[in-house]
Amino acid sequence: MTQPPPKTPPRRPVRMCVECGVLTDDPVLVAEVHQGTGPGFNVYACRGCAPSTRPHADCQCPLPPSEA
Ligand SMILES: [Zn+2]
Repeated sequence: MTQPPPKTPPRRPVRMCVECGVLTDDPVLVAEVHQGTGPGFNVYACRGCAPSTRPHADCQCPLPPSEA
């Protein structure tokens, strides 16, 4: 008799919303910041802020086209 593995919720990445600063486990990628010297980082917002969030002013790259 085999025990089913314990049901653990999938680990979701927690990100800080760039707009309101809350930690959310349902982040929305709103910008990708690329740095010439190394790997860039992603900017996330929570679901509530995402629609009204604009990329950071220091992001030097346009957002990639969504239908790429
Ligand atoms: Zn937010």
